[in-house]
Amino acid sequence: MSFESLGLSPVFTSSLKTLGFEDATPVQAAAIPAALKGHDLMVSSQTGSGKTAAFMLPALQRALADTAEKPAGRGVKILVLTPTRELAMQVSDATRSYARGLRQCSIATVVGGMPYGAQIRILSRRPDVIVATPGRLLDHLQARRVDLSQVQTLVLDEADRMLDMGFIDDIQAIVAQTPAQRQTLLFSATLDGTVASLAARMMREPQRIEMARPRERHTHIEQNLLYADDFAHKSKLLDHLLRDVDLKQAIIFTSTKRAADDLAGRLSEQGFMAAALHGDMNQRQRNRTITRLQRGQVQMLVATDVAARGIDVQGISHVVNFDLPMQAEDYVHRIGRTGRAGRSGRAFTLAVHGERHKIRRIEQFTGQSLPPQIVAGLEPQRTPRPGAGKPRRAPGGKPGFRARPGGRSEPARNQDKPRWNSRRDDRAAAARRA
Ligand code: AMP
Repeated sequence: MSFESLGLSPVFTSSLKTLGFEDATPVQAAAIPAALKGHDLMVSSQTGSGKTAAFMLPALQRALADTAEKPAGRGVKILVLTPTRELAMQVSDATRSYARGLRQCSIATVVGGMPYGAQIRILSRRPDVIVATPGRLLDHLQARRVDLSQVQTLVLDEADRMLDMGFIDDIQAIVAQTPAQRQTLLFSATLDGTVASLAARMMREPQRIEMARPRERHTHIEQNLLYADDFAHKSKLLDHLLRDVDLKQAIIFTSTKRAADDLAGRLSEQGFMAAALHGDMNQRQRNRTITRLQRGQVQMLVATDVAARGIDVQGISHVVNFDLPMQAEDYVHRIGRTGRAGRSGRAFTLAVHGERHKIRRIEQFTGQSLPPQIVAGLEPQRTPRPGAGKPRRAPGGKPGFRARPGGRSEPARNQDKPRWNSRRDDRAAAARRA
């Protein structure tokens, strides 16, 4: 569907043409007309679906596009809250490109881990748009450095993730300083549970737009599961995967910061252009690494969940889960780093036999089964493969992979507990490690 037919002004449609956006994505086609009418919206959509334009274009049009006839006055008109610094910066960059035809649109990115001085300066100039992580914005609000009384549109981006990260009190304190008659646009992977109760508290008769249920997600990403006996076996499988001739760039996920550093170090020693990305790095180091990834100077990024969330680099052809995510939904966020902007992508998940229950949780969450596959010559030794036939090509897979006969097999018994695998399935501990 064309952007013109959604009711967007020429000032935006021409910017979108320059960006090479020909047609609206499904979430844009559904959300933009409803948001332009001023409705509150609760939208579920997958990462990489074009959701940033879906909320930002109507917000900009309503707040700023007609400033020529009706001067909008100074003050923050659009406030976007995001869970992570990386996502905030990405939303700010996208906003700059969508707003390039506007006479007036200043954007402040207000995130933790960055110096206060520059943020204080830009806030004192009363920006039109603020894109922020909740904690740092609340600091500025408490110091009375920002006034939210003119906000017309409030966006809660990846609301489920903000709630998971414990931002509920900060969000409520921030929202309390915005006008009650504002428009609220909530985007989230899921719209149920805590997200629904948040929405009930702060939205007015929201329209629900459900773009993709878990079972429909990521059909353009080929998902593979490989069982390994132990750490050494996983490392060999990883080495094999990274030598795929179709690999352009890859993100490899580990569960701890230390594991990310160790693995990035090992890959660099093997001659790969590898780098780590995790929460122990300061913002400048993280930005530098992401820029190098965007420029293709980093081919293998070894990352933890929080640090890699929101990364949008179209060259990412492969995602490898070297360690399993703690939460099933993180699996969806991880694999969504590939297959960006309608491209196809490949995701590989390495698991030890004792982690079958986690695989089942992921399967339940996504509604898709992950049939185990085997790399010829690198088969796991610990689980016998009764009646293994000739290697066969896995659906959508490459020669050398074969689906395990009979699909899921019984969990292997008497397994050694893998030495790097913590048994604690505790969110707080996971957040500290990541
Ligand atoms: P998002 O889900 O907002 O993170 O967007 C994912 C990617 O899709 C980004 O690289 C956008 O620049 C790109 N994108 C968004 N909308 C469109 C569109 N209508 N046509 C082509 N690419 C788009």
